[in-house]
Amino acid sequence: MNLEINNLSKTYSNGVQALRDINLSIGTGMFGLLGPNGAGKSSLMRTIATLQEPDTGSIKLGDIDVLVQKDEVRKILGYLPQEFGVYPKVSAEVLLNHLAVLKGISNNKERRELVGALLHKTNLHASRKKNLGGYSGGMKQRFGIAQALLANPKLIIVDEPTAGLDPAERNRFLNLLSELGENTVVILSTHIVDDVKELCTNMAIINQGEVVLQGNPQEQIDTIQGKVWKKSIEKDELQVYKNKYRVISERLLAGKPEIHVLADSNPDSSFEGVEADLEDVYFSHIIGDDIVVGSPELENA
Ligand code: ADP
Repeated sequence: MNLEINNLSKTYSNGVQALRDINLSIGTGMFGLLGPNGAGKSSLMRTIATLQEPDTGSIKLGDIDVLVQKDEVRKILGYLPQEFGVYPKVSAEVLLNHLAVLKGISNNKERRELVGALLHKTNLHASRKKNLGGYSGGMKQRFGIAQALLANPKLIIVDEPTAGLDPAERNRFLNLLSELGENTVVILSTHIVDDVKELCTNMAIINQGEVVLQGNPQEQIDTIQGKVWKKSIEKDELQVYKNKYRVISERLLAGKPEIHVLADSNPDSSFEGVEADLEDVYFSHIIGDDIVVGSPELENA
């Protein structure tokens, strides 16, 4: 089953154009939707999840017209929104069971087995009697996946799931995502390049409501291989380098900025060639934005 998005646009009533003529073709497996905050990722995810309407365009999931046959989509959709609220005074087992009833799984034995299997799968079985209010961020996200999997979905959407998770929790969560069925379309929206690098066979980068790149991560890296150059500079030289070269990223190493420059050949002998990675691909496409490079947990430091 393929998800085909054509000419999708959306302008909110406050005049913000969140989606600009989006065209994406997404097959089964893990698809990464990468973009900075405010790029339009959530707007796109909510539109695919039938929670809001675009102004123009179409979305097809196999034979289903997503914008028209909303009930059909909801039957096969697992959605983990960015802000996943839980009832704090209810245990994971009780809430999951309750949600399974709402999904129409009325046979007690079948429901008990399914809830048990999902709690095992998400590694929450040992904490199943604990109230959700006492869960860590990572546990809540894993619970979110458990509820998203209740309907045996064919389309799974996870919106910025790793933001705010510590590295161990993030790993556990990404491992769980990677185990989701190969026959399922899984869309992972994130502003963390490593999430996509580690998991996704295909991806798109969106910026300011537009798809600026779509393809296989490794192939995209290959296109800039041999063209990325690094140099350690002084803080007050940054603007000079930005004026002169195509600086795609800057990061502080021991208090000194190290810049990455994209150029067909070595700008001068003071630069050193580096192995390009997905971060270089990403920043070469969203150039001009305020860029922060580093591990996710340091981003807001
Ligand atoms: P992302 O998920 O990539 O951070 P969003 O889709 O949340 O991006 O937002 C894209 C743009 O649309 C932002 O400028 C945001 O402020 C704006 N936006 C999002 N939701 C609304 C809304 N309901 N009303 C008005 N503007 C919105």
